[in-house]
Order: sequence, then structure tokens, then C-alpha cells
Amino acid sequence: MGYGNVAKVLTIAGSDSGGGAGIQADLKTFQELGVYGMSAITAVTAQNTTGVHGVYPLPPEAVAQQLRAIGDDLEPQALKTGMLFSSDIIETVAAQVRAYGWRRLVVDPVMIAKGGASLLREEAVAALCRSLLPLAEVVTPNLPEAETLSGLTIRTYADRLEAAERILAYGVKYVVIKGGHGEELDTSVDVLYGADTVVEYAAPRVATKQTHGTGCTFAAAIAAELGKGASVRDAVSVAKSFVQAAIEHPLGIGSGHGPTNHWA
Ligand code: PLP
Repeated sequence: MGYGNVAKVLTIAGSDSGGGAGIQADLKTFQELGVYGMSAITAVTAQNTTGVHGVYPLPPEAVAQQLRAIGDDLEPQALKTGMLFSSDIIETVAAQVRAYGWRRLVVDPVMIAKGGASLLREEAVAALCRSLLPLAEVVTPNLPEAETLSGLTIRTYADRLEAAERILAYGVKYVVIKGGHGEELDTSVDVLYGADTVVEYAAPRVATKQTHGTGCTFAAAIAAELGKGASVRDAVSVAKSFVQAAIEHPLGIGSGHGPTNHWA
């Protein structure tokens, strides 16, 4: 059997030495969902399940060169961004996405790791909104990230809608506000908003610490499905099920926040 038609999907993100989040989670997700994974690394983190112990951003030119190497030979059908760290790296990525005309971009607006380490400088939020969101098809903030992007405090579902409208105003086509950090007791509801779209994806809340890398995995799964030609609505549905299975069947690795199970 030939694989000439396999979808090629690119992740632009940070490396997690512990293998649970970042580039490593993205490539595992791509493999499980049957697409060919490629990567451009923005930063190297020294990390395990107990936390982030060091962050080493790459020079923007190293990011640009990785993207040119990919763009000159291996056109991605979809791509996602994760940890971008600085406005310089964001501007570099945006310039290359524009230069190659890459479509089907999923932006995971990674800001702070679960242990509290900053994965995006404060100065970079404006660049993310101004330069990258207008190029994106989907952005996947959790509730704290949606608050930062929208400038709103989110308490109610009406607040979520208002935040989504503000985020859509940057020019991104769809926003999925993830409910995992919410207060609901027994369900976690993610909501997809677009110009004429509101779709809710509910799943039972799982009481667990084994959630390291869930955000990366969710965005990577959306990108994988978009790469195969899925609609955003269907891609988010697949991603939600993929992450839910991963959380419900933890690997039990490490002494801290255990990693997402990509085989689930
Ligand atoms: N480390 C890297 C390199 C990441 O890209 C991400 C993504 O969000 C994280 C850590 C965060 O992981 P966590 O799910 O533990 O917040």
C-alpha cells in the first residue's frame, strides 16, 4: 500500500522532555489519528510530571529556518501552534504562515503550564492576537486563556459568549472555549463559537491529576482532523472524544501530573 495521499500536519510548539505535552504530545496524537506529523520547535523545556524546570527558547531564525525547510518541500494540509513564548517567535511564525499561504491553522494559546511556569511572555499576547489569530481557523483557549485574550472575567455562559465574540473580532473563524477549568461539578462543556455557530460538547468530568498535555493533545487532534479534510465542527468532536478517552484511562506515569494517554 502506498501512503502518497497521507495528510501532512505540522506542529509549531515547545519540546517537553517528559513526553507528555508540547511537540511530543502533538506527534503522538498525529500518529494515532493517522496523519504524517512534522514539527518546528520553538523552545526546549526541561520538564517532567512534577513541573517545568527550565525554558530555553530558540532564536527566531531557527524557527524560521525549520518552517522554510518544511514549506519548501512538505506542504502541510493543516497545522497547529502551541508554546510560542515571545512576540519575536510569534511574528516569525505568522510571517512564514503568510508566505506559504498555509491554511487550516489551529492556535492553542498556551500561556501558563499547570505547575505555574510561564510559556508565553506577557508582552507576546498582543502579537498573538494581532498577527496570528487573523490567520487562524480555530483558537482553543481554556477559561483563563479566554479571559486574557478577551479582557473579560468569565463567570457565566453569557460571559463565555461575550468573550468568544471579542476573540472572533481578531479575525479567527472559530473559537473553542474549553470548560475543563470551570466550576461545573459533573460535566465539562467545551463550546465552539463561529459567526453563525454555537455547538456544545459535553463530557463527564473526571476527577484526576493525570491531565498533563490535554490542551496540546486537543488542539493537535483538531489539526489532524482538519488535515484529513474534516469540518471544524466534526474535528472538535473527534478531539473531544480523543482527550476524554485519554483522561479516563491514565497511564499512571511519574509522581506529579501524569501525561495524557494517547493510546486510549
Ligand atoms: N510544556 C509545553 C512545551 C507545552 O507546550 C505545554 C502546553 O500547553 C505545556 C507544557 C503545558 O502542559 P500542561 O498540560 O501540564 O499545562
